[in-house]
This record gives sequence, structure tokens and C-alpha cells, in this order.
Amino acid sequence: MSLRNIAVEGDPILRKKCRHIDEITPRIIKLLDDMADTMYYENRGIGIAAPQVGVMRRAFIVDVGDDHGKIEFINPEILETEGTQTYCEGCLSLPGKSANVERPARIKIKAQDREGNWFELEADGLLAVCICHEYDHLEGILFTDKAVGEVHVEEKDED
Ligand code: ZN
Repeated sequence: MSLRNIAVEGDPILRKKCRHIDEITPRIIKLLDDMADTMYYENRGIGIAAPQVGVMRRAFIVDVGDDHGKIEFINPEILETEGTQTYCEGCLSLPGKSANVERPARIKIKAQDREGNWFELEADGLLAVCICHEYDHLEGILFTDKAVGEVHVEEKDED
């Protein structure tokens, strides 16, 4: 298992637009594996995007604990969105913060898997929320940019 450091709010890398992945090299595969390790290791992580581990590339992973399990998205494109839903979101890069965000209720997305094959996926509920949240990371957007109402900040306990 290999963990990577998570970039936290204030790190300029979280505000940059990520670059297309032209070739899925062993280095990219290792990045995906490390991202998954880091996501599962961190408490309540259900998604992680490459810039959150300091890599400006268009890739993210989600696992909302449903039948899909872990899904890797390389060079994702959101094709369609429909309706709206509001969910209270958090982020590994903004520890202790949460806010309601309005997202599409349903989305259709296409992306490449680690073999380079394109796939399409339709998602709703939490999976759609999570995919939109992670996609935003590739554009340098954080959930607090889209907060509806107040951003809640949890008091940190001293270790
Ligand atoms: Zn996030």
C-alpha cells in the first residue's frame, strides 16, 4: 500500500485546470492505485481526484459503497445532466468543512478505464453527486465555491 499526501485548501494546485492524459503509462496506473489507497485510508473518503494528491492530470476515483464498487475515470466528459438534488458535501482537501451543494440529479458521463477503453455510465443519487464533485476538482473548482447557504466548519479536537 502506498499513500500520498493530500493537498489541502490554500494549496494552489487545487485551483488549476488539469491536463488530458494522452497515454496511460505505468506511472498513471501507479497514480490510480495510490489514489485508491489514499482514499480508502482516509476516513469517509468516497472520492479522490488526481490534483488532490498533487498531480495535475484528468483522473479521479469514486466508491460510494454501492454495487459499482470502485470506478476509475480517466479523461472524463460529462455528456448529459438532468434535474437537481442537494446534498451536504465534504472533501478530503477541506477537512472539517461541509456545505449543501446543488448538483444534477442524474448524469451521463464517459471516460477511459485503465486499459484505455472508453465507457459510458449513467448515475444518480450520491454517485452522481460524487462524480460531479470529483469532476470539478479537475477544473480547479471546490465544493465551497458552489455552497448553498453557509459552509459549516467543524471544531477540531486537539490530539
Ligand atoms: Zn473533494
